[in-house]
Amino acid sequence: MLKHDYMKINSDGHLEIGGCDTTELAATYGTPLYVMDEARIRENMRAYKNSIDKYYSGHGRCLYASKAFSTMYMYKMAQEEGLGVDVVSGGELYTALKAGFDAKNIVFHGNNKSYDEIEMAIKSGVGRIIVDGEGEIEKIDSISKELGVVTNIMVRVKPGVDAHTHDFISTGHIDCKFGFAIENGEAMEFLRYAVGFENVKICGLHCHIGSQIFLFEPFKCTAQIMVDFYARLKDELGLLMTELNLGGGFGIKYVDGDTPVPYEGFIEAVSDIIKDNCKAYGLEVPFIYMEPGRSIVGDAGTTLYTAGTIRDIKNVRKYVSIDGGIGDNPRYILYGAEYDAILANRANDAPEEYVTICGKCCESGDTIIEKCYLPKINSGDIVAVMSTGAYNYSMASNYNRIPRPPVVMVKDGESKIIIKRETYDDIIKNDVM
Ligand SMILES: *Cc1c(COP(=O)(O)O)cnc(C)c1O
Repeated sequence: MLKHDYMKINSDGHLEIGGCDTTELAATYGTPLYVMDEARIRENMRAYKNSIDKYYSGHGRCLYASKAFSTMYMYKMAQEEGLGVDVVSGGELYTALKAGFDAKNIVFHGNNKSYDEIEMAIKSGVGRIIVDGEGEIEKIDSISKELGVVTNIMVRVKPGVDAHTHDFISTGHIDCKFGFAIENGEAMEFLRYAVGFENVKICGLHCHIGSQIFLFEPFKCTAQIMVDFYARLKDELGLLMTELNLGGGFGIKYVDGDTPVPYEGFIEAVSDIIKDNCKAYGLEVPFIYMEPGRSIVGDAGTTLYTAGTIRDIKNVRKYVSIDGGIGDNPRYILYGAEYDAILANRANDAPEEYVTICGKCCESGDTIIEKCYLPKINSGDIVAVMSTGAYNYSMASNYNRIPRPPVVMVKDGESKIIIKRETYDDIIKNDVM
């Protein structure tokens, strides 16, 4: 029965988010419904921006890793809050540009960018392209030459740090499809080659060591390894790096045992390491980028479902089926992600039993919460699953031809649809017969 501190329980015993009664939201917009708290998102964005100002003299920028939740409204908010964004596909780039996002504050990622995506990125004038693999830099250089521009890039490397998180979301160690490894000489070799391209400017290196990390230590190690490597690049190649992108991966609270640290702690933890070592090596202190995705939107999102069929299998477990499932939240089936929930319409009732919250898809692994401690639940109760703001809508599918739920943004007692509910006509719109 997790409830975030920024939420309230009102005098009717209903869960309230952004000043809106969630049972009223469910009645107005239907369920399943993603509810996003605008004030919380802005607060999360400001925490990063302020920490760079406070601990790093403002010599850096927070980039919202928009794959966590990519929609035009998010790009608009990020721009208003003075953040840049990172995009990982032509589709995310298109969404950002359509939202009016300033291209020079967009960073373009991806371990297998297509020729068309690279061309689109360069033509639209994105600020940085993060080069991640053989074959890409040649394309960037030749397209840039044709267009008569010099493209600013950063090179993604693997610092060799294991961030002690789930294997599927850990990306900093050598056995991973992203980036060039530092430890086996691959990164040095690539950079030696990369300096030869005329229409490409190497601004710095990028790394991203994993996700849902609660520890400062992996980031400190990474910062140290990166600055050491910057010193080697200067010595061996005469290459001066003016920027450093340390990626994202900052953990949030999904369940009660999770212990997120204040986000400003990350920049505080790395800033002295970077500054002191740069001084010792005689390097310029690099402009720094942080790329949080999950920690900007994750805890700001809640999914409302209506409980339906309840199946009590004696001495086994009690299944509570909700009106959504892996189509709107595939994270349990993908990597056993944990969530917690509260009954939105009876938020003050004491929990008394463990149930399994499962979806309505034809897949027995269609689970949202394996073991959820709730009051005795009835069909028709509104189940509010916490911390679904990141990697839920953005990973949603139409499995079983279930239309994707809408997203409603709440703030100061007002609610506004920012993504409409899909219709059955949306479902068949690309079908041809
Ligand atoms: C996914 C990703 C991020 C964001 O990770 P979070 O865990 O959501 O903070 C940042 N940078 C890169 C390159 C990523 O792939």
